[in-house]
Amino acid sequence: MTKILILGGGYAGFYTAKKLEKHLRSGEAEVTIVDPLPYMTYLPFLPEVAASQIEARHVVVSHRRHLKKTSFVQGKVTAISAADKKVTVVPVTGGDSFDIEYDELVVTLGSVSRTFPIPGVADNAIGLKSVEEATAIRDRLIDNFNKAAGLPAGPERARLLTVIVVGGGFAGIEVFAELRSFATSLLKYYPEIDFNEVQFHLVEAMGNIMPEVSHETSLWVLKNLSERNATVHLWTQLADATGGHCVLKKIHKDKEGNLVEPEETHEFDSDIIIWTAGVMANPVLKASDLPLEPRGRLRLRADLRVEGDDGVVEHVWGAGDATQVPDLSGSGLPFDGSCVPNAQHAVRQAKRLAKNIVASLRGEQPRDY
Ligand SMILES: Cc1cc2nc3c(=O)[nH]c(=O)nc-3n(C[C@H](O)[C@H](O)[C@H](O)COP(=O)(O)OP(=O)(O)OC[C@H]3O[C@@H](n4cnc5c(N)ncnc54)[C@H](O)[C@@H]3O)c2cc1C
Repeated sequence: MTKILILGGGYAGFYTAKKLEKHLRSGEAEVTIVDPLPYMTYLPFLPEVAASQIEARHVVVSHRRHLKKTSFVQGKVTAISAADKKVTVVPVTGGDSFDIEYDELVVTLGSVSRTFPIPGVADNAIGLKSVEEATAIRDRLIDNFNKAAGLPAGPERARLLTVIVVGGGFAGIEVFAELRSFATSLLKYYPEIDFNEVQFHLVEAMGNIMPEVSHETSLWVLKNLSERNATVHLWTQLADATGGHCVLKKIHKDKEGNLVEPEETHEFDSDIIIWTAGVMANPVLKASDLPLEPRGRLRLRADLRVEGDDGVVEHVWGAGDATQVPDLSGSGLPFDGSCVPNAQHAVRQAKRLAKNIVASLRGEQPRDY
């Protein structure tokens, strides 16, 4: 029987499997998903989890429970060989790696947080790419309110009540705004803490926030945040976060628009540093013989098959954040016209992908996304 192997069971992988279960005839193919996590995560709801608006268990969906006709391997893909039609996997429980062979491969490995070599960030910042990180942020904020309530005014109390979010994209702004509201709502249980003591800083290296929305909307959000005791630092970089001591540096541009050495600095201590400064394609793709574009995403045709310099790479498909899919609607990313990495594209691509795989198994032509 044809073996379809899906790498990554997030939005794109989960929905591809779900639709394959629907479209495949009995005995036509067997489908396997590999993912280190036993569940798919609705990532857009993580800011609400961090802000205690949604229960963590409501944003995850068990693979085994909801993909009844799909086999599940809990492991981490470490290498892909299209030449040998096999994938190397390390089990999450430890032990030796093993290979899985495939007839059709689906690469839906998503993206990872993009980090920069900023001192202290790896040790002190929390990302926002998993439900565990979201709950860690929520718990830290509540813990800090409890600790601060018993402390006299001073640097330690201020550190506990200072939150910094790095990255002014959609995820950063959403978690920033949600946490600000959450902190305000907590105040009624902590009469010892004053609204003005809870400090929120958002740091964005560019001159505007949320490039995904219109300029008017981003201006409205900035105004709204400033009215809620939340400081937005535009044209600013987090230069150091060692020991939770945050050093912000203003970025200056010269007349030609080149970035020049930062000059002004702003410093404070924070016990809650949240890192949302961009994402990049899953770096495990580099441990493959598949064609990648300069940003490390898998190169795809509009029909979601992988495309190399010599044409289609047979039997390899992809979707979601890990891939570069041409956006035929013309509203793609400004630098290459590919689909914006978001959940809506990932789910819609997955639906097309499942149909295309089934079509190709039946000798029909795949259709463009
Ligand atoms: C905080 C936040 C808020 C967001 N808000 C929105 C929003 O409001 N609207 C919107 O449209 N989009 C939003 N997005 C983006 C959206 O979630 C992504 O575009 C979408 O999840 C991409 O789907 P995907 O399947 O490509 O990747 P993912 O959903 O990330 O899935 C990738 C899967 O691959 C697995 N994986 C990773 N490494 C390996 C490995 N080595 N081996 C095997 N499996 C592996 C992961 O465990 C995961 O299950 C948000 C993202 C975040 C983080």
